[in-house]
Amino acid sequence: MQVITTKAEMRRLVRTARAYRSAQEASRATHASGAGGSSRADGVEPGPAVVGLVPTMGFLHEGHLSLARRARSECDLVVMSVFVNPTQFGPEEDLESYPRDLGRDVAVAEEAGVDVVFHPSAAEMYAPGHATWVDVEGLTEHLCGASRPGHFRGVTTVVSKLFAVCEPDRAYFGSKDAQQALVIRRMARDLDQAVEVIVCPTMRESDGLAMSSRNAYLTPAERAQAPVLRRALVEAEVSISGGERDPRVVVAAVVGRLAEAPSASVDYVEVVSTTDLRPTDRIDGEVLVAAAIRLGATRLIDNVVVSPPG
Ligand code: AMP
Repeated sequence: MQVITTKAEMRRLVRTARAYRSAQEASRATHASGAGGSSRADGVEPGPAVVGLVPTMGFLHEGHLSLARRARSECDLVVMSVFVNPTQFGPEEDLESYPRDLGRDVAVAEEAGVDVVFHPSAAEMYAPGHATWVDVEGLTEHLCGASRPGHFRGVTTVVSKLFAVCEPDRAYFGSKDAQQALVIRRMARDLDQAVEVIVCPTMRESDGLAMSSRNAYLTPAERAQAPVLRRALVEAEVSISGGERDPRVVVAAVVGRLAEAPSASVDYVEVVSTTDLRPTDRIDGEVLVAAAIRLGATRLIDNVVVSPPG
């Protein structure tokens, strides 16, 4: 396992891996034609090297590791970035206190099959005078985009930079951050970034709480209340599957359930279309029910995707 801290070294490693693989391919083709058949005796699958990228902010949990394992099963070279990206935090947010443990991250990433951890400093990632931003319009207006101004601009900018440095064929994201995944998929399409965006299921604790690095902030009393978010969203799913078509009724029920947790305050609860993330007046097709709450100082998000019957 290697830990790389500079963009130049990271780019060199990916390009060397690709060149090495091409050379292997060429050599195998020569031998195969000489022997009058194709040989896979060296165990290498045919074709160019596939590079997978798993972008993270570290303090890894099973959610991150599930993305790494999926990448391992589909790619030849698995790169995981561990970078607490300052540009996606608002001035009042938790950039300074965000949990960090690089030593443990490297050990568990290696176990999950990661080949390289890319861990640049903020100064390495953003040159002095950095002035160029990637902004996906529309999809970033609602949900977390409304309550965290500038957040998605920071995310799409850093992910674009990671794509430029690591040149992945595939990049892996979690559906816990459903809006982020949609925004990144749209960005890749709109900017012709040659990467397949793969969205993986949310990993949960046994009581349903979505795994998150920020769960480490919760006090024991808050942690005991935290599963209310998942419970409220599952109830929304059941209600829509049972025929409820009015998003206002669904939102009111979720807000009511969340109010049962004494330390919880609602940031947002919205029922939006899964294609453009706009609030819907009536639930006629697939919708995303997404919510964000604060439990004390900790902000938690979760969501469900539901298709109404018929
Ligand atoms: P983060 O380190 O929180 O920025 O997350 C890095 C990646 O891991 C993002 O694509 C997240 O959506 C994904 N992720 C975070 N939590 C989970 C989870 N519980 N299950 C699956 N993926 C997750």
